[in-house]
Amino acid sequence: MLPFLRDDLAQLSAYTPHAGQAEKAVVFDQLDTNESPFDLPDFLKAALAEQYQQAVEANRYPDGGHLRLKEAIAGYAAESAQLSEVASDCVSVGNGSDELIRSLLIATCLGGSGAILTAAPTFSMYGILAKTLGIPVMTIDRSDATFALDLEAASAAVADSHPPIRVVFMVHPNSPTANALTEAELTWLRSLPETVLVVVDEAYFEFCQQTTVADALQRSNWVVLRTFSKAFRLAAHRVGYAVAQPALIAALEKVRLPYNLPSFSQAAALSALANRTALLEAIPSLLQAREQLSQALAADSRWQVWPSQANFIYVRLSPAGLDRLGLEDQTAGLVQIFQKLRSRGTLIRQTGGGLRITIGTAEQNQRTQQNLAAVLDELSLAATGSR
Ligand SMILES: *Cc1c(COP(=O)(O)O)cnc(C)c1O
Repeated sequence: MLPFLRDDLAQLSAYTPHAGQAEKAVVFDQLDTNESPFDLPDFLKAALAEQYQQAVEANRYPDGGHLRLKEAIAGYAAESAQLSEVASDCVSVGNGSDELIRSLLIATCLGGSGAILTAAPTFSMYGILAKTLGIPVMTIDRSDATFALDLEAASAAVADSHPPIRVVFMVHPNSPTANALTEAELTWLRSLPETVLVVVDEAYFEFCQQTTVADALQRSNWVVLRTFSKAFRLAAHRVGYAVAQPALIAALEKVRLPYNLPSFSQAAALSALANRTALLEAIPSLLQAREQLSQALAADSRWQVWPSQANFIYVRLSPAGLDRLGLEDQTAGLVQIFQKLRSRGTLIRQTGGGLRITIGTAEQNQRTQQNLAAVLDELSLAATGSR
């Protein structure tokens, strides 16, 4: 370790995209990061290329105030929550919602002033970013059957934590488990004191159409995060946004980097919003494909499949499946399945004690289904052979 570095960095490792992807040579069905399987339509790419030629001044810094983009996002946020208006000073934009998560942490918990609360399993970035800032992370469990929060444990954690819990991070619907917040969970979040910030990460909003934007506008301690990386097909451009009351937005603006969003990314996000009908048209068939894959897996008693409100599904081996595979340990089975699947060209995510599978194109989903069945048969046969 370099002698000038913070001691606690020794315990951290750099984020690895596509964990487990060893060689680059094989063409994978990349179903591990919940992106849209569809690139932008050609007409939109051509229009963006034209904008780059005609309107983007590469020698100039981007618009650091993001005013046009904020206005367009505010319009979409209002539409998505069926509100007549959202003011543009209720919106902040980030280099992906990851940047906004970090800005929220800096604005709330830095320097020993607070801890964060998350419910495992959930999106890993809250914990990863908090640790890089030396911020303590408290974790509560979810029900194994439904992935609902243990609200008693959550209340106890908020009531008695040193340093105090300043931020509760919730994904709605959650990743990797794909369940939306329940009414009881929302009621609990709304009951939290004003000294605790509630972050509702709606990265998958477009797939489930449930939103808490109205809470963010009414409550001083509530912020909604969303992203252009999933349904809007702009993961390459790194655009996320926050919706909250102006006082919290002003705090986010204080701690962000001056030119955090490149000109071309701003242009891409504006273009995606202007063409949202065309882009979001792909969603109903993705949801249909999700149901089809879920049902196909659920028909095999070796899987336990949870209902999904997002563009991915979450599965574990069922007790019968573990038995057929001759395994006592879920994780040992998942590791083997993940690896065998990868060698067949299907890359998914093994996380949170299960497998998270992004819904892809029709062909990709077909291959996922076939490869999963083949891998389980292979493992079941090997188990029978060794009995
Ligand atoms: C994918 C995802 C994001 C998006 O992050 P970006 O930095 O905007 O790409 C945020 N939150 C969750 C829970 C996600 O799954």
